[in-house]
Amino acid sequence: MHHAIVNAKTHKHLVSVLFLDLDKFKNINDTLGHDIGDLLLIEVGKRVQALCSPNDTVCRLGGDEFLIILEDLTHYEKAITVAKEIIASLSKPFYLENKIISTSTSIGITYYPNDGDNIKVLLKNADIAMYRSKARGAGSYEIYTQELSDLIKEMVKLEERLKKAIERNEFLMHYQPIYDLHKQEVIGFEALMRWNYKGTLYYPDSFLHVMEENKMIIEASSALLVSIFSFIKKLNDTFQKEFFISVNVSPVQFGVDSFHDNLIEALEISALEAKYVCLEVTENLFLENIQEISTKLARLQSYGFSIALDDFGTGYSSLKYLKVLPINKLKLDRIFVQELPHSKNDVAITQSVLALGQNFNVQVIVEGVETKEQCTFLEENGCQFIQGYLISKPMSEENVLSFLTKEAEKTL
Ligand code: C2E
Ligand code: CA
Ligand code: CA
Repeated sequence: MHHAIVNAKTHKHLVSVLFLDLDKFKNINDTLGHDIGDLLLIEVGKRVQALCSPNDTVCRLGGDEFLIILEDLTHYEKAITVAKEIIASLSKPFYLENKIISTSTSIGITYYPNDGDNIKVLLKNADIAMYRSKARGAGSYEIYTQELSDLIKEMVKLEERLKKAIERNEFLMHYQPIYDLHKQEVIGFEALMRWNYKGTLYYPDSFLHVMEENKMIIEASSALLVSIFSFIKKLNDTFQKEFFISVNVSPVQFGVDSFHDNLIEALEISALEAKYVCLEVTENLFLENIQEISTKLARLQSYGFSIALDDFGTGYSSLKYLKVLPINKLKLDRIFVQELPHSKNDVAITQSVLALGQNFNVQVIVEGVETKEQCTFLEENGCQFIQGYLISKPMSEENVLSFLTKEAEKTL
């Protein structure tokens, strides 16, 4: 690399450094063994080498990381072309010892002299770009920019703050009512996470992605379960009701074996029965191993929990999931509700999902209901359960208590 930089300086050329990292290589090692892993690395090296010219350098840094140094470049596009070719080539299956193995790679790209004038900086920046391309999904490349570097620094800062937030119990829950239009009363609540950082409440959109990426969500959520369940128990005792609580569960939580035990333990501590707890999952959970997930869901269900499919309509919305998975409720995403009853498409979608619920014998909860007009339309179309600002925004525990007290007074 030193040689390449000196050369480029003299001839006023560019050097590009490509940082490659195989996606999910650990899985291959773990499931097929290190011997297959080693063979795969050798084959990857060969494929990459075949796409570079004799003047370029291909090396393995360690683990599943490779580095390519492209010398004597006269234009930037060349490195991008090479990156695309490598991604395409490595995404084709490998045949090793009678096994078909598929992998892919993420690539970060930097240039000398634009992104750094020494080896250390160029490598660091290529790594940053690679990290970013991984975050966007397997099999992609990313070119280093200063903004990217700032973004990563912000992420790291946020990550450190969030780690402290767990230690300091800065997370809490707000509760949003779920309303039964037939009974004309609140029947349950959804627990929504908030972060109290230096007196300001932060919403999940600003921190949840980081917590999921580094799996902090597992610890943060399980720490909150007891307080959520105890709160609902208290509401039911105080108001002589049978409110249920809906809890969002992210796929990372579902993946750990302790999840089930955490739930049961929290129920015991708070003396709440499982039938008052609904677990909200999203479709990306099913992309993993649908058979395994189905078994886990069924086990939870037989314990008494109910299962809701959240954000329905925004993902695959595959009818297969409704058929093969034990699901009790569908939550229709609020993007279909915003323009009701004026958008023809949204009307059609909402009516179809309501009918779907009826035919599959699954409750449909419509989210994000903000206006009386939307509510009337839904009511006329046979919708029974709604959630949204029309009933109430998510509230602190204290505000839920006064909300329910007022409701109780109204009915007297
Ligand atoms: P979600 O599960 O779809 O939750 C509903 C979101 O819609 C909440 O946003 C809620 O405040 C908002 N909302 C409710 N009614 C209305 C309405 O009428 N109009 C509008 N515009 N918005 C409404 P929030 O609290 O910011 O949560 C965002 C997302 O973060 C949630 O979406 C959920 O996916 C995730 N999340 C929240 N708490 C947790 C948690 O404890 N664990 C996990 N894994 N995810 C959580
Ligand atoms: Ca939800
Ligand atoms: Ca939702």
